[in-house]
Amino acid sequence: MSFRHLFVALGLIGSTLAASAAETKKFGLVIHGGAGVIKRDTMTPELEAQYRAKLNDALNAGYAVLEHGGAALDAVTAAVNILEDSPLFNAGKGAVLTADGICELDAAIMNGQTLAAGSIAGIRHIKNPINLARDVMEKSPHVMLIGEGAEKFALTLGYELVPNEYFRTEMRIKQLERAKQLEKAPKASALLQEIFRAQLDDEAHFVREQKYGTVGCVALDQRGNLAAGTSTGGMTNKKFGRVGDVPIIGAGTYANNATCAVSATGWGEFFIRATVAHDISAQMEYQQKSVREAAAATIAKVGKLGGDGGVIVLDAQGNLSMEFNSEGMYRGHRLSGAQAVVAIYGDETKR
Ligand code: ASP
Repeated sequence: MSFRHLFVALGLIGSTLAASAAETKKFGLVIHGGAGVIKRDTMTPELEAQYRAKLNDALNAGYAVLEHGGAALDAVTAAVNILEDSPLFNAGKGAVLTADGICELDAAIMNGQTLAAGSIAGIRHIKNPINLARDVMEKSPHVMLIGEGAEKFALTLGYELVPNEYFRTEMRIKQLERAKQLEKAPKASALLQEIFRAQLDDEAHFVREQKYGTVGCVALDQRGNLAAGTSTGGMTNKKFGRVGDVPIIGAGTYANNATCAVSATGWGEFFIRATVAHDISAQMEYQQKSVREAAAATIAKVGKLGGDGGVIVLDAQGNLSMEFNSEGMYRGHRLSGAQAVVAIYGDETKR
């Protein structure tokens, strides 16, 4: 064999090896549509089917990006946009209402390759908040913009402002009414409280259920890059410009190629205090814990503080966790070489 032939043969072997390495490199995404009191007996088969179908749509949209060699960040925005546009979830259309009856939206995104991050809080007129969070990351020198300022920034980029009514649904209006009734109830007379006792139990259950419904996605692309994104309307009946964990980098959202990507959902005040997303990453970085061990330890910490909710976590090897201490969490994943998984209840898979 001549030298030339030998070089050609070696070249062919090399490119075949490279191609098969690329083929076996795992990629995929994990999503959530919020955690809370989600139980079979309070769900109709029709509604459950709608949730499962929409989660599948989001998984497929994100997966299509990754399958074609697209970036983890693009998969995250594609999946989150679908959940934001669906009135089923507490993000974008169908977001919960503040005490003043309006929608104020928070979102964040993070690039695990560069540790760049962007977030927005308390915005009222941007149809897909995750897109604006991404623009804060990519087109501004800042990490976090709030309220009117964030919307002014959006206008400089040519965003269209949508009326706040676009986000509001009948279901959320009713939820706010019930939350307000419940808020007043403890101040009612003993007799009235007695009369409403049974109903109150039911209402407390109801309000707890409505706390969560945030959407999020973590993705791993074929180049081994991780990204995380989260979008929410926050909590029903929130007041005084309340901001939750979602747009706080390290609390509700975090991504680092060296450790993992995390998106959280739950009672935001507790998730901020436990710096949930970074806590998971830090355990992996400093204690070499696995995704599952780290997620379980952090959610246990949230539980000890008195909070509830869950996280989705994915590392650069495709290991994942969907850990939560609430009764359920809308969730799912689709990884290369495996079937898509969608789950809702506590007795279904957390992996
Ligand atoms: N974590 C969100 C917040 O506190 C709520 C949610 O997860 O639905 O704003």
